[in-house]
Amino acid sequence: MTEPAENAHFLPRSGMDVPRFAGIPTFMRLPYCPPEQAAPVEIAIVGVPWDGGTTNRAGARHGPRQLRDLSTMIRLVNQATGISPFRLARCADLGDAPVNPADLHDSLARIEGFFASLDTRGIVPLVAGGDHLVSLPVLRALARGRAPLAMIHFDAHTDFYDSYFGGFRYTHGTPFRRAAEEGLIDPARVVQIGIRGTAYDGEDVAWARAHGVRVVFIEELEDRGFRAIVEEARAIVGSHPCYVSFDIDAIDPAQAPGTGTPEVGGIPVLTAQRMIRMLDGLDLIGADLVEVSPPFDPSGQTAWVGVNLMFELLCVLARAVVRRRQAAG
Ligand code: MN
Ligand code: MN
Repeated sequence: MTEPAENAHFLPRSGMDVPRFAGIPTFMRLPYCPPEQAAPVEIAIVGVPWDGGTTNRAGARHGPRQLRDLSTMIRLVNQATGISPFRLARCADLGDAPVNPADLHDSLARIEGFFASLDTRGIVPLVAGGDHLVSLPVLRALARGRAPLAMIHFDAHTDFYDSYFGGFRYTHGTPFRRAAEEGLIDPARVVQIGIRGTAYDGEDVAWARAHGVRVVFIEELEDRGFRAIVEEARAIVGSHPCYVSFDIDAIDPAQAPGTGTPEVGGIPVLTAQRMIRMLDGLDLIGADLVEVSPPFDPSGQTAWVGVNLMFELLCVLARAVVRRRQAAG
């Protein structure tokens, strides 16, 4: 596909022009675009620097800044697929969503409002968390007029728990229980991949399966292979509007240790990259990469894995944007 002239302003700065370690870091070296001036943007990369839903080791609030820094290593072209997302769609860094580190529900409202404002302008979000509760207000924003959404969810955990600490219903272990109850997602069109580790009591998995969620444990992924699992996921999602949520703890902690709730025996990075590439063709309306926790990631290794997964997500999001643009004539 030829590069639309109006896209030139939205191309990342090349490391052949300015060294990657130089300058102000934006996501993937894209231009920063203030949200109120984002009308021409088709895909917004947005940080949500908030971890008020974390139940164990905190720190994901620092994720967006570290992910921006490491993302300056990302180049233009996906050599595996040939996709150059920046040439397919106008992408920009829209900064961080507003948050209130001292008030959970105020944060959820602010985050939802921010993404609803993008959605009304037709801007597709690629979100950098933040902890996994961040997905709930993003889904609330995207579900307006589209609910219930399909979702493909990579994680070591289902995040389908009901409550923590005696009935508290909003943590990074509960976002998808709330999303299902609120009608934002259709459990029968939700696929979870990579689930593993020790459990509290299994109530989360039982509830999810009883409501139709396809829960793929890591052992099944290894036994059947990633192609068979993603083919099944694609069939479950069909042509429905689909959100992709990627918790970095889905990746094996040998490769991505810097996260709050690591679980051994996870997905290799390359397998995850290849699974995301296989999502090309779905009607993807947004995606997130959450739970990178820089205080537990002193080398930046986990953020580096995270930004490469964000790039894979951006590639398939850009393809979906092109298809919708062409369908709209
Ligand atoms: Mn998790
Ligand atoms: Mn999670």
